Amino acid sequence: MLLPGRHKRVFYHSGDFGDIIYALPVIRAFGGGELVIGPSKLWPTRLQMNKSHVDLMRPLLKLQPYITRVTYADGPPKKLDFDLNQFREYLVMEKELLRRGHRRLNLAEAHLYTFKLPLGECDRPWLTVDQPEPIPNRPVLIHRSARWRNHDFPWDKIMRYHAHHAAFVGLPSEYEDFVRDWGYLPYHPTADFLELARAISGCRLYIGNQSLPYAICEGLKHFSVLEVWQEGPNCLFNRENAVYGHGPNVYVPKIRDTDQMNTVLSNCPICGADASAAEPCRKNVDIVKCQACALIYLRTHPDREQTLLYYQKYADDHSHMHLPKNVDEIRTTGLRREYFMQEMLEFKKAGGTLLDIGCGWGAFLANARDKGFRPVGVDICHKAADFGTSVLGIPITWGDLSELTLPPESVSVVTAIHTLEHLDDTAAALARILQVLEPGGLFCGIVPNINSLCSTTFKEKWQWLDVNTHYVHFSPDTLKAILEKGFQIERIYTHTGDYDQVQLHKLLTERTGRPLEGDDLTETLQAVWDSGQGEEIRFFVRKL
Ligand SMILES: [Zn+2]
Repeated sequence: MLLPGRHKRVFYHSGDFGDIIYALPVIRAFGGGELVIGPSKLWPTRLQMNKSHVDLMRPLLKLQPYITRVTYADGPPKKLDFDLNQFREYLVMEKELLRRGHRRLNLAEAHLYTFKLPLGECDRPWLTVDQPEPIPNRPVLIHRSARWRNHDFPWDKIMRYHAHHAAFVGLPSEYEDFVRDWGYLPYHPTADFLELARAISGCRLYIGNQSLPYAICEGLKHFSVLEVWQEGPNCLFNRENAVYGHGPNVYVPKIRDTDQMNTVLSNCPICGADASAAEPCRKNVDIVKCQACALIYLRTHPDREQTLLYYQKYADDHSHMHLPKNVDEIRTTGLRREYFMQEMLEFKKAGGTLLDIGCGWGAFLANARDKGFRPVGVDICHKAADFGTSVLGIPITWGDLSELTLPPESVSVVTAIHTLEHLDDTAAALARILQVLEPGGLFCGIVPNINSLCSTTFKEKWQWLDVNTHYVHFSPDTLKAILEKGFQIERIYTHTGDYDQVQLHKLLTERTGRPLEGDDLTETLQAVWDSGQGEEIRFFVRKL
């Protein structure tokens, strides 16, 4: 290996195309240089690189600031600093490394690993284009190659959502295959990789399998859905705007035809009154109070797509809803909410079907099953739904309430724990709950309380305002009024619940002018709850 600055570094790669794209972070990490492309005797590839292949790649590669030249050669040049083909040594060792418990590296990491470079180098974009070129009226781009297919991947669903505003990129033969298998969409030919990269950069969503256009999409870190090839899932990266489709349950973003990122409600989600007449309740965010029914709600909220994407992160490690790491966690997690289960059992003895709406990976449902219920769930986070279904064996529908298939009056208990406030059509959700509940069936749950002590004190800084996902803000009064239509109220009260106790206790200390502890604290808290100012509302109601 040569010292930096001694001469311009020369890199050699023999492909295939995708491998070369995934090798680029290595060139950048070494400070850039000349890339020579050509065949290799030592590492023969499926597609032997020739001059015209290099011509296809050159315009895109030359645009990258760390690449000084792109040339073709019949074999490795004499003055060679790095033979990038060496990354195949990792592929040879991969099986053994996986057996020893190592995680599988993606193709860019495999290159970086080979040259002992930091793997995080491929977490930021390594490709740029001169100008994104959106295709008019076609915000979605699709590609699928003959290899690396996943037969469970829901192309039929994707075409239902997107065929009307999608275009296909790739080879003519790939296009013919795709249209034959999944139906019509127009073809967008591209003369070289730069044209392809401009189109990908200009689209709003890219959907494809583990082939060359996806490698370009990865280099650009563009919003994408990947058809993951289960035999070799080597294109998984640490990035937030990639959706990985391992099986039939894949979150498929529904891109709107407009660029509007905000949805403005024109009607109150409960009574339907004119939203433009509602009075503002909080500064900076469009939280308003309905003049007809007094419901407080988020009038301007993020685009539905943004919100759905946001929910997909609920399964990840940083979230309080994250997937459990082991059996112990499944058995002991606080998400089982034993205290709530016990209170619920005061109103309905175990047995019968229990439906948990917004169940996450199914912690509460697992608890319900242990108590003797038949658990079913629905959740918007596909990783969570998959986990509950496949690992816990609890049927969890991925999607929203409308996608749930349950016969009328077939459910004994419906629970919605910190869920109701997330739904965009509260009235429709309640109608659906009434429909599936048996007569006398129990509906219970928890919602944040907009009239709570911390909410009314901290206003915009209240921790549960959550403008990304909290669409409706109930108070004990508005919730009661809503539930009284169709249900008999068994119990409704407020409590601190999951809210930040430290913040609340600090506030109470300031209010009372004395440090609170022991019985004093308990009594003060009880007084807050009794006055309807606890941070959350717990409700237990019965279908009439
Ligand atoms: Zn209203």
